[in-house]
This record gives sequence, C-alpha cells and structure tokens, in this order.
Amino acid sequence: MRWILTLLLLIAAPAVAEEPEAILLRPAQVFDGIDPAPHIGWEVLIRGDRIVAAGPALTVPAGTRTIELAGETLIPGMIEGHGHLFLHPYNEAKWDDQVLHEPLALRTARAVVAARTTLMAGFTSERDLGTEGAGYADVGLRQAIDQGIVPGPRLMVATRAIVARGAYGPKGFEPGVVVPQGAEEASGADEVVTAVRSQIAVGADVVKLYGDYRWRAGEESRATFSLAELRAAVEAAHDAGRLVAVHTSTAEGMRRAIAAGADTIEHGYGGTPEIFAAMRDHGVVLCPTLAAADAVARYAGWDGVAPPPAGVLASRRAFGAALAAGVSICAGGDVGVFAHGDNVRELELMVAAGMTPAQAMIAVTSRNAHAFHIADRVGAVRAGLLADLVGLAGDPTRRIDAARAIRFVMKGGQVVRHDQP
Ligand SMILES: [Zn+2]
Repeated sequence: MRWILTLLLLIAAPAVAEEPEAILLRPAQVFDGIDPAPHIGWEVLIRGDRIVAAGPALTVPAGTRTIELAGETLIPGMIEGHGHLFLHPYNEAKWDDQVLHEPLALRTARAVVAARTTLMAGFTSERDLGTEGAGYADVGLRQAIDQGIVPGPRLMVATRAIVARGAYGPKGFEPGVVVPQGAEEASGADEVVTAVRSQIAVGADVVKLYGDYRWRAGEESRATFSLAELRAAVEAAHDAGRLVAVHTSTAEGMRRAIAAGADTIEHGYGGTPEIFAAMRDHGVVLCPTLAAADAVARYAGWDGVAPPPAGVLASRRAFGAALAAGVSICAGGDVGVFAHGDNVRELELMVAAGMTPAQAMIAVTSRNAHAFHIADRVGAVRAGLLADLVGLAGDPTRRIDAARAIRFVMKGGQVVRHDQP
C-alpha cells in the first residue's frame, strides 16, 4: 500500500513544483561591481540561490515574486578583505587581554554576533585572517553559517595564522614560562610547511603568515621569516590550492613576500615606489588596512582632526604610492581592530586618500572577488553568480557613505534584511 502511495505521489508531483520561486528585484539602478557607472532601470531576476538575469525590462516567468526597491541602488554583496571576527575593538579590551583572558566560548559568542552584524551591514563574504589565539573556532563558525545555524557572511578562514617563533605576542612574562600566543609559531622551512599543511588539513581556506613584527615592545618591526621559510610556506599552500596572505609593513618584509610568491600583502605601510612597482609586476595584491592605522591612532588619543600621527601618515602615503604604481588594491580594513559592521570605514578612508567612490566600490566587490579567486561565484551582478545582493538608499559610486545606507540584504537568494521605507 505504502509503495503504491509513493508511486502515486511521484506521478502526481508536477516537475515545475520542484523549481524554487523566482524573485524579481526592481531597484532604481544597479551597480554591477565592474562598470563604474550604475545601470539605470535594470532589474535582477533570481531563482534559487542564483542570479538568472540582470538588465532592463526583463521577461519573467509566471508566478515571479516582485520586490520593489524604489529609489535604491542595488550592488553586489560587499566582500570584507581583511577581518578578524574573533577580535573586538582594542578600546574595549586590549589585544593581549583578549588573547590571554577571554575564554574561547566568550570569544566565539562574540564572533557569532559579529558575523550577523557584518552580514546586516551588506558584507556577504569575508576573508578572516586569523583567530588571534582562538584556535580553529573560525572553521566551526564557517560551518555554522554554511549550515544556516547562524547568519553571517560566506567565510574564507585562515585558522591560527603562522608566526616566526618568538616574534609575536603576548610578551613580557617570566622567561621560559609558556604563554598562549596569538598565532602558531614555527621556525625553519620544515616547521613552517608542517604548520601550513596542518592548518589546511583542519580547514584553512587561506594561509596567513606574519612576515615581520616587533621583537620587543617599542621596537621597529623587522622581517621575521627568512625568504627560504616564506618560499616553502607559499609552495606548500599553493600545492594545496590555497592563497597566501602575508602581514608585512616593512620594505624588507614586503620584498621577501613578493619574492616568495605571496598572493596578497596586508598593511604594507612601509612600501616604497620600487616595492609597489614590484608588486604590480608580480601581480601581488595590496590590502592597505587604512582603517586599522586610523583606529589604533584614535585609541592612543588622536582626535582625527589634529595633524595625524606617523602611523596614519605612513598608511596614507603607502596607499597613495601603491595607487600611483598601479598595484591591484583589495578592500580590507582589519575590522575587529575596530567595530564589526563598520566595515565601510575602510572604503571611506580609501576615498579620502585618493580613490574615486566608484573605484572603492569596485575594490570591495569584483576586485576582492578576483583577488581571493571567488569571482566565479560572487562579486558582481551577473547571470550565473550567487544572488548576494544589497540595496542602498543612495548611490555609492558618487558618495561613498551611501554604502552605509543599507535597506536590503540578500544572501544566496534569501532575503536576510529588508527595511521598509
Ligand atoms: Zn589583521
């Protein structure tokens, strides 16, 4: 009897019922992530988790649900290029205290909230460059988001990140006492390769290395990993199909990262015109993290109006030199150092330092997608890509602060935020 019922159900179920509902978005205009000029009057058709069509006056299937986004600019979901969901702003708790005194469950609870805040701010993807002492919890968070247990951006995670033994922190304890570190320590090409492979094995999508750091508080940063160590790490990561991000802010650290074949350089505050020319020639992407330099200076007492301190000046000078040299620039602010959900701060600072608003919007969408090798899925409003789409009250290609005026967020075809006017 049950067998017959099943058969009847199979016959009775029309094939079309299996197809997910089609949705038509009708904004005032579409910034597609690639063309600096928005397309007035474009519509976007979505079925399931994908964009089916984008253009003017689309023909839509019967039964399509229309969502009016009157007056809004529809953009691709933004991509945070450099974040730390397991950190919270340093004016709330110093980095040392977060690493040493905050239990993993507390840090994870904060990260869950930070992920939701990030998504609601229009960032539907994020490259998270290290848990800073929170182990491999980013892998679990990525799974929880992918399984729909908690809301958040699509994550590319680095897990613990890798530092040269003795070069990172926290520091300043009785010599010989083992203190929890903000990243995995390694020395010598063999250990570095072991760290790369073990992090990939447990879930790293990207490998993050610290190419320079201060050996003692108050010192200048110095290159840490040797060129041979960096080369070994990059080779092991690339063999496994993972990109390599190198934190470096000294000219020597950057020079080694470029020579070793790194894919992105994070910060780069000490870059020279020659270094940036080499980055351009080798296709190495710069993630300038202007917002991190800005935030750290404010925590130290800068009001944002007085002549900026050296760190802020260096970050702006480097950004200008990289732009002039034609380096491919990622949009990533080191969010976590400042508040999650305030990711647009980096775009505002990029524009203040010389980019046009349209260039900054291209950076945070299609440019980031290309840099992180995910352009076949996200980063543009184009048929076939995932329906990660954001509606804004203004035009961010004219005024970058419009990127804060979020009215609508869709991730993979699901509406996760819709503010009614
Ligand atoms: Zn960072």
